[in-house]
Amino acid sequence: MKHNFNSGPSVLPKEVFEQASKAIIDFNNSGLSILEIGHRTTLFQEVLDEAEATARELMHLDDEHKILFLHGGATTQFFQVPMNLLNEDETAAYLDCGTWGIKSINEAKIFGNVNVVASSKDKNYTYIPKNFVIPETSKYFHFTTNNTIEGTQTHFIPDTKVPLVADMSSDILSREMDFNRFSLIYAGAQKNIGAAGVNMVIVKEDILGKVNRKLPSMMDYQKHIEAGSVLNTPPVFAIYVCMLTLRWLKKIGGIAAIEKINNQKADLLYSTLDSLPLFKPTVAKEDRSKMNVVWVMEDPELEKKFLAVCKENGMVGVKGHRSVGGFRVSLYNALPLSSVELLTDIMKNF
Ligand SMILES: *Cc1c(COP(=O)(O)O)cnc(C)c1O
Repeated sequence: MKHNFNSGPSVLPKEVFEQASKAIIDFNNSGLSILEIGHRTTLFQEVLDEAEATARELMHLDDEHKILFLHGGATTQFFQVPMNLLNEDETAAYLDCGTWGIKSINEAKIFGNVNVVASSKDKNYTYIPKNFVIPETSKYFHFTTNNTIEGTQTHFIPDTKVPLVADMSSDILSREMDFNRFSLIYAGAQKNIGAAGVNMVIVKEDILGKVNRKLPSMMDYQKHIEAGSVLNTPPVFAIYVCMLTLRWLKKIGGIAAIEKINNQKADLLYSTLDSLPLFKPTVAKEDRSKMNVVWVMEDPELEKKFLAVCKENGMVGVKGHRSVGGFRVSLYNALPLSSVELLTDIMKNF
């Protein structure tokens, strides 16, 4: 048996894999595979409708927030956001907390001015800056709610009148949050929502239609809203896997229920790390991520040995990102508590 701590694409519920594989052979007793049905059929429309309705229910979204399923991964959103929201002579505020934030900042600079209101670069991105000022004239404020690579997470929503835009790729649906406070949320599906190949984008319509550049149709959120996420052929199978995963989350009790389990997993792992001097978590305690846990060991030889023990026990995805080193394990929604129990047992015995 494998314990999948991959950072993305990552673990999904076993029942989702079973249902998805059945649908490849025969989708809902239609005699057709999910891979060969038209994207404008009732069969697929029902999938889209359920995915949307379930996400809306789980996140308690109001009617002003539209839910889209788009292509191109979160990386496309790094530029699609400023392309749709920021005029060339306007300024957007950004928070710089690591790899993904930097990428979003660099893409925004193509379309307008970027004001980096705070950065944790001074301490190698091991904390989340606080008490920063977001100028009221900012077109929007963008931040990454969970820094997948560095292992930090914002445990607050900035108090501002400026429209909030967030990259929630690696912690969406993992904890309760007032999602209606955001004007735009985006997340690549391959961490907590489903299969790679699709993005969930949640957008409040009132921020659209305010830029004066011409937008290619595929880049225009408004056109996708009007077309109900089928402006062109969407990633049908990836959306189906998202729908199954959302259905699973609803069945087990929704975000509040999964948050409890996520807290148990993170508490167990961090308390074990804190109790064993061999293992050194790299991140400021109050900013620790409950999704991606990063630590190092002082001796490179010991790191190699510990990695080997993890491997012997069927653990995958434990090695740290090449830019940080050490270890990083991802505790996404579908990772069972038992995998963390095994990992912490291994640590104690090491
Ligand atoms: C994984 C990740 C991305 C990149 O997602 P792609 O779908 O590969 O473009 C962006 N932001 C965050 C926070 C991520 O975790």
